[in-house]
Amino acid sequence: MPDVVIIGAGIVGCALAARLAEGGINVTLIDQAEVVAGASGANLSLVLWGDAEPGVSLTLTRRAWDELPAEIADLEARTGLGVEFRPIHTLALVPDGLDPRAVLAGGAHLTEAGFETELIDAAAVRALEPAVDLGGVRAAVYQEQAAINPFLFTLAWADRARAAGASIVTDTRVTGFRMDGERIVGLETAGGPVVGDLYVLATGAWTRALAMTAGVDLPEDHIIGQACVTEALPPLLHGLVGEAGDKRVSFELEVAARGGDASGLRLVEFAAIQAMSGNLVVGQVSHGGPSVGEGVRPGSLRDLAAGLVRRLPVARSASIIRSWAKPVPFTPDHQPLIGPVPSRPNLFVASGLKSALIITPLLSKLIAGAIADGDLGPLRAFSPGRFEERRLDGR
Ligand SMILES: Cc1cc2nc3c(=O)[nH]c(=O)nc-3n(C[C@H](O)[C@H](O)[C@H](O)COP(=O)(O)OP(=O)(O)OC[C@H]3O[C@@H](n4cnc5c(N)ncnc54)[C@H](O)[C@@H]3O)c2cc1C
Repeated sequence: MPDVVIIGAGIVGCALAARLAEGGINVTLIDQAEVVAGASGANLSLVLWGDAEPGVSLTLTRRAWDELPAEIADLEARTGLGVEFRPIHTLALVPDGLDPRAVLAGGAHLTEAGFETELIDAAAVRALEPAVDLGGVRAAVYQEQAAINPFLFTLAWADRARAAGASIVTDTRVTGFRMDGERIVGLETAGGPVVGDLYVLATGAWTRALAMTAGVDLPEDHIIGQACVTEALPPLLHGLVGEAGDKRVSFELEVAARGGDASGLRLVEFAAIQAMSGNLVVGQVSHGGPSVGEGVRPGSLRDLAAGLVRRLPVARSASIIRSWAKPVPFTPDHQPLIGPVPSRPNLFVASGLKSALIITPLLSKLIAGAIADGDLGPLRAFSPGRFEERRLDGR
């Protein structure tokens, strides 16, 4: 069995560390900051199947959804941590000017996979979410999805990894790779080299920058998700309320094409959910940019607050207690990057996930299996080898 070094202690790295360690593999998990410091601690908490891409992603998402209740029960039993998993509805409000049937038709592949997604009128929305102002909205796409506490979820996987013998090293930034020809023989960190047999990039939107130090340019870009959270409030929202857009795929490609100058673009104008603690989490997905470490842009906090007050006027006087911006990766075909890097025999990527919470319990199991027996199985569809490799040595 190889000694595996995983870089990135987000949900993907932590779950994979647990699966590998439970399979008897010697695992070291390294993060430049703490556990759950990246996008995994910055998200809206949705266990979301609604944005699964057709094909293998959707098939695996369906399986992940079916297996999730048992996975969560197992995780909670092993760690003693409750992760606040609960069913919720999501409502994508369709603003006047967009054809509701066209928005619904965009989810036809979801219906085919057995997920329930339906159009409801404003009266039905009002019955579900009486506090929401429906100005300019006559319909919404309704889906039964779920939510989870993303911090507790990731920390539980980290606990599970530790309990199985994985070593978790925080505050240790990987700055490069020691190479022997095409093989990696160690990681460079301020604390000295870290050595293993197989190296896994579970570095989310930072993956491309880090892979470059190993001489490979992976086709991964990112958009920025921004969010803020209010003080705890009495119950106002029962599920997620957001605004439907009609430009998802073209948006990401446009961000990439603009090479960072995409500050005017918005994918999701507004989405809000109330945590079990009562805090409202309000988010939007907007511009791209070359940096992956920035905070909320000036003006964005005002946009987030304005969206909240417009749709949820009763929250007008709520205080915002925290805000953040974190990068979310995407690839040219919107599928994840999972598998060995063709020109680097002991470098494995596990990245490129936009909605990671639903699928990570399943993916981590499949990836651990692929690492143990060398067969990617259904993950072959996500292999970096599907793209022509761009090596920085020009070969
Ligand atoms: C505002 C927002 C809302 C979102 N909402 C949802 C949602 O509701 N549901 C959902 O499923 N998904 C959502 N997402 C996306 C989801 O959060 C990500 O898909 C998921 O967190 C990715 O997990 P990851 O483990 O791949 O990456 P990350 O959690 O980003 O982890 C990568 C880790 O790598 C570490 N790292 C990077 N470079 C180095 C280095 N050189 N050395 C050492 N460590 C390094 C980072 O510190 C980080 O901890 C949202 C994202 C954002 C930003």
